[in-house]
Formats: sequence, C-alpha cells, structure tokens
Amino acid sequence: MERFAMLIAGKAVDAVSGRTFTSQNPYTGQPWALIPDGGPEDVDAAVAAARSALDGPWGEMTGFARASLLRTLGDLVARDAEKLARLEVNDSGKLYREMIGQLTALGSWYHYYAGLADKIEGRQIPSPNPNYLVYTRREPVGVVAAITPWNSPLLLMTWKLAPALAAGCTVVVKPSEHSPASTLGFAALVTEAGFPPGVVNVVTGSSRETGAALAGHTGVDKVAFTGSSATGRAVAVAAAQNLRKVTLELGGKSPQVVFPDADLAAAANGIVAGVFAATGQTCMAGSRLIVHSDVHDELVRLVSARAAEIKLGDPTDPATEMGPVANTPQFEKVLGFLEVARDEGATVACGGATPGGLFIQPTVLTGITQQSTVYREEVFGPVLTVLPFTSEDEAVKLANDTPYGLAGAVWTKDIHRSHRVAARIKAGTVWINAYRVVAPSVPFGGYNDSGIGRENGIHAIDEYLEEKAVWVELSGGTRDPFVVG
Ligand code: NAD
Repeated sequence: MERFAMLIAGKAVDAVSGRTFTSQNPYTGQPWALIPDGGPEDVDAAVAAARSALDGPWGEMTGFARASLLRTLGDLVARDAEKLARLEVNDSGKLYREMIGQLTALGSWYHYYAGLADKIEGRQIPSPNPNYLVYTRREPVGVVAAITPWNSPLLLMTWKLAPALAAGCTVVVKPSEHSPASTLGFAALVTEAGFPPGVVNVVTGSSRETGAALAGHTGVDKVAFTGSSATGRAVAVAAAQNLRKVTLELGGKSPQVVFPDADLAAAANGIVAGVFAATGQTCMAGSRLIVHSDVHDELVRLVSARAAEIKLGDPTDPATEMGPVANTPQFEKVLGFLEVARDEGATVACGGATPGGLFIQPTVLTGITQQSTVYREEVFGPVLTVLPFTSEDEAVKLANDTPYGLAGAVWTKDIHRSHRVAARIKAGTVWINAYRVVAPSVPFGGYNDSGIGRENGIHAIDEYLEEKAVWVELSGGTRDPFVVG
C-alpha cells in the first residue's frame, strides 16, 4: 500500500483527525493507496495557508517571477509524466498509453500560461474630465478553490491551476474521493518547483462534505469546479450564498452528426474513439450518433464492427484499447442505464455485456427515440445511441435536443455545410471531421447545463483576475471636489 500526504502551507501533512481512506485499483479490485481523510478543519487550514501566501511573498512576486516558476513546474510534470501516469492508471483504470500521452502534454499548459503571466496589463482610460487620470489594474481574484472529478484529475486540475497561478492567485485543490492519489503525487512537484508555501494546497477527503466545505468557505474568493451537473448546481448555490465567482465545467451528451457524403471510415473511427476512449468516461464523449438515414445501416455496421474488436484488458498493457469502468458506483450506474434502455425497447447493435470485473463491452444502441432515457441522460460510460435523420434542419434540431451543450462534431465533405452546421450546434466546441482534440490555447467549456465560463485559451486567465479602476485627481485640490465630469 502506498501512503500519500496532503499539502498544506508547504508541508506534507495527514488529516487533523488522523483518519485515512483507501483508493481502489478498478482493474485489480485491490486497495493500493492510503489517502488522508481530510474534513472541514483541514479545509480551514488550507484556505488560511492560501490566504497568508497571497498576503505574503507570493502577492509581491512579479508576473515574470510567476512565469519562471510555472515553466519549472511544467518541466517537472513532463519529467515525471511516467510516474504520474501510473498513479492515474492505478486510481482510475485508465489506459497507461493514453495517460502517458496526456501527462507528457500536460507541461505545455504550464508553459502556455507562463507566457501570459508576464503580460497582464491594465489600461489608461480616456477621462471624462481633464483633471483626472483614470487607469485600471488587473489583480488576482485571490484564493481559488479548484474541485475536480475522477476521470482526468491532473488534466482538469491543470486547466484551473495554470491560469490561476499565472494570474497571481493561490489555490486549494480538492480531487475526487475516487481518484485522489495523482493530485497528491503532483503536489510534491509544486514544492520542488519552488513555489512559496501555501500557494498551492491539496486537501483530500472520503466524503463529499470535504468538497462542500471548500465550495462554501467564506475564505475562498472563487470556485473553479469540474464534475457532474448535479454537483455543479450545489457548488453554484454555495458560491452564490457567499457571492463568490464560479466557473463550472459540467457534463455533456454530445452529438456526432454524420451526413451521407462523409468519409464513413474516418467517421466510424472518430465516433468509436469519441465515445469509447477512456471507457466513455469523458465529459466530451460523443455519445449521440445522429446519422443520415441513407448511411445509417452502413455506419452502424462499421462502428459496431470496430467496437466489437476493441481489446479490453489490463490498462497497463500497451495492447489494451479499453480499460474497466473507474469505480463500482459508476459501473452500477452504467449497468442501470443499459437495463432501462432494454426495458424501453432499445436494440443492442453490439456489446451490452459485462465480461467480468468492472468491464462493460463497448455498446451501440439503435431503435431508441428522443424520449429514451439513455439518449437524454449522460451515461458516462461506453454507450453510444444512434438516431437517424433525413434533412439538415432535422439533424440540427436533434443535435440541439439536449439540456447540455459541451461539444459536438459534424462529419461531411461539404465545406459549406460543415461550417453552417457547426455554427448552428449549441455547444462550446464543435469539431469538423474530427473529435476529442483539445489544446492549452483553445477555449473549452459548455452552453446551458454543461457549465459556466471557459477554461483554456487566452481569456481563461480573466476568470482569475479582478479589474480595478483607479481615478487620480490631478489639480492638487484646487477644484471643487463635488463636481465630477
Ligand atoms: P461529481 O460531481 O460527483 O464530483 C466532482 C467533485 O466534486 C469531486 O471532487 C467531489 O468530491 C466533489 N463534490 C461532491 N459534492 C460536492 C459538493 N456538494 N460541493 C463541492 N464539491 C463536491 O463528479 P464525478 O462523478 O467525479 O465526475 C463525473 C462528472 O464530471 C460527469 O458528469 C462529467 O461529465 C463531468 N466532467 C466534466 C468535464 C468538463 O470539463 N466539462 C470534465 C470531466 C468530467
């Protein structure tokens, strides 16, 4: 059993209560890591540490100095990509070959936001009165709570941490109780990079109360959350009660729209990777295939044939293409969806079985309707639903027939149609003849139930900055102070 510690005020610490909990490896079914079971008192300590770091040396550091620390951290993450990838594989059963790719690329987020840290500028504003000089300052929001889900803990933490640190904020990270180890492993790199104590703190806990204590903490100035829409709502309410800023990256039910002129082989590949990668446990999973009726049967055949070939197995084996579901509650949730789908009359075009452990075969469901539960709700598992359409308008209507709006794709060789449909899909990201590509420089986030605000890209740093207007009276007190403008 590996033992991990939290990071509070620059120190590796256990929970104040001394309690621990274990993280289970979903492939072996064995507990493998001992994690501090932090509660509200640990959250208090972490928030206090973040506040004093903000009021201390970190608050006085220039953007140039922050940029340099961020670059060092990015290099350390790249150096330790293998070690961090193994922690994520043990925690959540994700494929090592996928995680090593993700972790190797992770450093580029810190480098990207390092590039912005020394370019945060206020501006001079034309004054309505020549007796005033008016300018703005851009200041860090303050203490940030970063709450993350179990599916990609380090990537989704980085989407918050890198811009927050670039902006000059301090951060308390709270990873999911289902996959806490990699974030604790990462914490050691923050210290090694030379960040002052308290700039980054990590608190873990076995219960949802730990996250709730952080989201509703009056010492927190902004909450950045990724997780389910239901929890996102609770986080937004908690933040609103304190009148604090919030960004939310939530769930999705993303459409893959395939027109009859599409390269069907390429579309089939993109659809299979889009929904079955990470065992379907990604917010951006392309879980609704909306396909023109002329090519419906052919595409379902291609997708099902490829899905049936997907090799399930040991996530550390490079030949494995899909790992287990990440934890038992999620496994049961996906099975529940499959049962309801059968009861509601869906046809299993491929998959549907549970070959042992926490594995679920990649599943393609046809014969569903717009009212089918599995079509409407986020499954967060390896399940694709298929609906046919006959006109472009109908395709767009179906694509937008969801409370979510995180992502989507259009598959067609018609350049006019591709842009036209991309413009009409109500989602934060639309890929044309592609799926699941993300980058530090490209904004990511959702419409409607998929969230509030954007992560990544130049403007994500604005989510961590306040704008202050400064008015300077220039006459030296010779004019009437009550007359402005
Ligand atoms: P979750 O909402 O159950 O938990 C997310 C985090 O919130 C965990 O750390 C949890 O401990 C914490 N939490 C729980 N209750 C809380 C509360 N009341 N207040 C504050 N924090 C609380 O989500 P999950 O099951 O870990 O992750 C799966 C969900 O995340 C899916 O719906 C998925 O679509 C979504 N997701 C979204 C994105 C995105 O970028 N849009 C990315 C990945 C995952």
